Amino acid sequence: SPSIQTKNRPRSEALYKEALQHIVGGVNSPSRSFKAVGGGAPVFMKRGQGAYFWDEDGNRYIDYLAAYGPIILGHGHPQVTAAICRAAENGTLYGTPTELEIEFARMIKSAIPSLDKVRFVNSGTEAVMTTIRVARAYTGRNKIIKFAGCYHGHSDLVLVAAGSGPSTLGIPDSAGIPMSIASEVITVPFNNLEALHAALERWGEDVAAVMVEPIVGNFGMVMPKPGFLEGLCAAARSHGSLVIYDEVITAFRFHYGAAQTFDGLQAPSLAAIEPDLTALGKIIGGGLPIGAYGGRKDIMEQVAPLGPAYQAGTMAGNPASISAGIACLQALAEPGVYDRLDQLAARLEAGLAEAAREHGIALTINRIRGALSTHFCDHPVTDYDEAQNTDGEQFARFFRLMLEQGICLAPSKYEAWFMTTAHTEADIAETIEAAGRAFSVMSAA
Ligand code: PMP
Repeated sequence: SPSIQTKNRPRSEALYKEALQHIVGGVNSPSRSFKAVGGGAPVFMKRGQGAYFWDEDGNRYIDYLAAYGPIILGHGHPQVTAAICRAAENGTLYGTPTELEIEFARMIKSAIPSLDKVRFVNSGTEAVMTTIRVARAYTGRNKIIKFAGCYHGHSDLVLVAAGSGPSTLGIPDSAGIPMSIASEVITVPFNNLEALHAALERWGEDVAAVMVEPIVGNFGMVMPKPGFLEGLCAAARSHGSLVIYDEVITAFRFHYGAAQTFDGLQAPSLAAIEPDLTALGKIIGGGLPIGAYGGRKDIMEQVAPLGPAYQAGTMAGNPASISAGIACLQALAEPGVYDRLDQLAARLEAGLAEAAREHGIALTINRIRGALSTHFCDHPVTDYDEAQNTDGEQFARFFRLMLEQGICLAPSKYEAWFMTTAHTEADIAETIEAAGRAFSVMSAA
């Protein structure tokens, strides 16, 4: 029967033991643990270059994790690296405004016109957290509506039915969040306008905002059904609620812009409607810490020093992150970048689907341009229930078998595979062959 050789990773094993002594759970973000894929030591990486990284034992991996999204140019992209070095030479933090921030704000605004005004912060979590505060300040209301399985970072309000990290770990919401806060959040199923209408009927006049990932990246890649976002915006507005798009994953993922500016994915176009506020992060930092939020002028003017909603940051808009972000967006603005990501991912999708068929493995692949998700099931995945109702043990086996062959995926059945500009056709071919061997082992079991 087919078999795949297990790699030895004595350094990762030893480092994990050591890390457990000092760092809670041995990891600085729970999604990095292997808890959802059978446990044990995660792989400790030492170096990344382009589409690859190497672990502490010298094993090479093709990287589809892309650091959960930001590394769309691959590791150590020369222009980004040069920008970071230049920034470091000039001092990485001033605590004063800089011209770079204006340049970057202009770049982002011209790609995403719903942003009359922006503010840079340090993470997606902060960006989302602040959009909620601003929406509450603007409307004078307290509640928010979110969608089951959408993850919006780890601030109190959005860590309810929050998706990938928490649901992978089997924690529906976090300890330490008072019921009084959780009770301000209403969760409804994604792609379900009736449920949204019902929630707004009941609580509408208390709802400050409806928060949504316009294209979901946190229970696999899931498109809004045609008309869903239009219906969502119309419903929210008819109740006087704001619409917040969390574009932390989606901005600059599928094209040079955000989901809200993309008219190439479906009809009616996603670009037919605009949110009131938008949260950004990941790709816009070029691999350094960043977040940003922005939106309509009159709403953003609620923020201090102009208005009564307070938000601040010692590290916010630091020259290193901003320089990396500018270099990253400049590289992404080159012609053909996104079409190539799309083509590589299409090839990968086709190869994975064919290999799964050949070995009788039930596999649903959701692909949106250069991002895809693999679900071990024989039904479509269009909402969180369907994403949960997939075979986690199959995924765990697949994850391990791919890892042993030098293909690194995220250790969760809910996370996407991200294509980078550094991946080559040879990498895709190698990945498809590895998947074929993995499926063959899985079907023989
Ligand atoms: N929103 C979305 C849609 C995300 O996917 C994430 C992170 N995976 C966040 C917000 C939080 O971003 P960060 O981890 O930078 O705080």
